[in-house]
Amino acid sequence: MSIELEIGIAFAVFALGYLVNIFYITVLYHRGLAHGAVRFSPVTRFLVEHTGSWVTGIDPKAWACMHRLHHQYSDTEKDPHSPAYQGVMGLWLGQLRSYERILARLTKKSPGMMAVVEDIDFDVSYLNRKRLWFVPYLIHLALACLIGWGTASLWIGGAYFFGIMSHPVQGWMVNALAHRYGYRNFNTTDQSRNNTMVGWLVFGEGFQNNHHQNPGSVKFSVKWFEVDLGYVLCVIAARFGLITFGQTPAIESVPHPAVAIPSSHL
Ligand SMILES: [Zn+2]
Ligand SMILES: [Zn+2]
Repeated sequence: MSIELEIGIAFAVFALGYLVNIFYITVLYHRGLAHGAVRFSPVTRFLVEHTGSWVTGIDPKAWACMHRLHHQYSDTEKDPHSPAYQGVMGLWLGQLRSYERILARLTKKSPGMMAVVEDIDFDVSYLNRKRLWFVPYLIHLALACLIGWGTASLWIGGAYFFGIMSHPVQGWMVNALAHRYGYRNFNTTDQSRNNTMVGWLVFGEGFQNNHHQNPGSVKFSVKWFEVDLGYVLCVIAARFGLITFGQTPAIESVPHPAVAIPSSHL
C-alpha cells in the first residue's frame, strides 16, 4: 500500500482506539461512575463492571475512588495527583503510584477507602483481585501485533496499541497541565485551570476549572469556544439508550458541592 494510505489507515485506527478508551474513561468512569452526572442502563453498567478493566487496563472502582479523592483534596498534599506537590513531570509516576496504592487498599477492603466508593456496589475487577492487571495490556499488545501483521504495517499495529492504551497520556495532560496552565472562569479553592488544548484533545477533560466548580454537571464547557466532545459522546450515548442524564443543574447556577468522604481514610 502507498505511504499515504498507510498513514491514513494508521490515523483512523489510532482515532478509533482513542475514542473507545476515552468513551470508557470520560463518559462511563468519570461523568458516570465517579460523579453520577449520567446514569447507566443495565447494559452499560455491565460493560463498566465487566469490560472496563479489559478495555482500558484501568479498574473502574479504583479510578472512581482516586478521582473522588482528587476532588476532595484538590491540590493539597492528600491529592492523589497534583502538579503542586508532584510537579508537572513528576505526576507521570505520581498518578500511577497513587492508583496502585488505592487499588491495593480497595482490594484489601480497607474500610476508609471503601467508604469513598460505598455507593459503587461492585468489587474491584477480577483481574485486579487476582493481580492479573497486566493481562489486558498483553492482549492489546497481541492484537496490535496481529493488526500489524495482517496489514503488514508497524504503524497501523502501533496506532492501535497507543490509541486504546492512551489513558496514561490523557491522564497526565488533564491532571498536570489542566491544574497548572490555563485560565480560570471560577475562583475555586484549588488550582484547576481551563486548558483549551487539553480540553479539545481529551474530550472536555481539560476544562478542569469548570469541572471543579461543578463536578456534578455532565457538561464541562461554559464558554462558546470551550468545546466538550465528551458531552457530545454523552448525547450520542443517550440517544442509543446507553445512559440517561442525571438531574443536575446548569454549571453556572450551583455552588461547589462537597464530596462526602470521611477524613480518616488516608
Ligand atoms: Zn482536577
Ligand atoms: Zn471529576
